[in-house]
Amino acid sequence: MPRTHALTISIAALSAAALLAATGCSSDAGSGPDTADVDSGNGSIVATTTILGTVTADIVECADPEATVTTLMPVGADPHDFAPSSAQVAELVGADLVIANGLGLEAGLDDALESARTDGATVLEVADLVDPLPFGAHADDHADEADDDSADQGADDHADDHGSEDPHFWFDMQRMATAAELIGEQLAESRDGAYAECGAQVADEIRAAEADVRTTLEAVPADRRVLVTDHDALGYFSDAYGFEIAGTVIPGGSTLGEPSSADLAALVATIQAEDVPAIFTNSAEPSTLADAVSAETGRDIAIVPLYVGTLGEPGSDADTYVGFMTANATSIATALSP
Ligand SMILES: [Zn+2]
Repeated sequence: MPRTHALTISIAALSAAALLAATGCSSDAGSGPDTADVDSGNGSIVATTTILGTVTADIVECADPEATVTTLMPVGADPHDFAPSSAQVAELVGADLVIANGLGLEAGLDDALESARTDGATVLEVADLVDPLPFGAHADDHADEADDDSADQGADDHADDHGSEDPHFWFDMQRMATAAELIGEQLAESRDGAYAECGAQVADEIRAAEADVRTTLEAVPADRRVLVTDHDALGYFSDAYGFEIAGTVIPGGSTLGEPSSADLAALVATIQAEDVPAIFTNSAEPSTLADAVSAETGRDIAIVPLYVGTLGEPGSDADTYVGFMTANATSIATALSP
């Protein structure tokens, strides 16, 4: 598989090079010294995830309604597991600016992002710039409980590949607002100042919406602020809005891990011991494991899907970033309120 991947990328790099050559030929003769014009915003803007894509598109639409943003991942795609087509790799490599999440979230895009950088694209990896948090201790403890089987392999791979910083920063709306400002400032560097102003405006809208999210979450009493989630994706949410993560169905900070039977038995015990009322699943994935855990507890545990790594379908309540956070806060508040 790595060989195929490398081949795909070298083909993409070749097509991008051909594209650049063609663009160079079509420009006016004698434009040699006028290099500023070449970088002045005609290049494409590509975002990796649907969440970064919608926020970037809001900024771009405000600054220049003619400009467009390409979002690489489709709605419903799992960012941990997404593999680009060769056309998408070419698009990344040929981009002027790539807005990526980083911190290992887009594991299947690592090679393509590296090629894009090599080819002269600016790659803004946002998570690293918004004061990332380490992964929560609960998930680590959970993984350590099972030393004796293959699930550990997945957890170890994850740690080796991605280090210990959590990429899921978008679950904290303050960090997402900062990200909007940074994206606007980055766009302003190669375009014009309107992008920075629009980044600040989108950031203000996110901060205003966060006040409503906080109000919604106030309905959950202190003794019920306990989350069991699909994977360790809600660390920023818990930190920002005052929740505790009691456990995760999939061990570790990626959907690529696989729980052992010992992991699942430990989670069942935790749910029983802490009287956890709900398991929050991933609306983009089947809830088979969560259903099994719930059944094993012998209790009436609510299975509540959240939007985790992707926006909802167009027309759903989570087809914007603010909608995504509002829908999640409402689901959590409803499930955990007495
Ligand atoms: Zn995740």
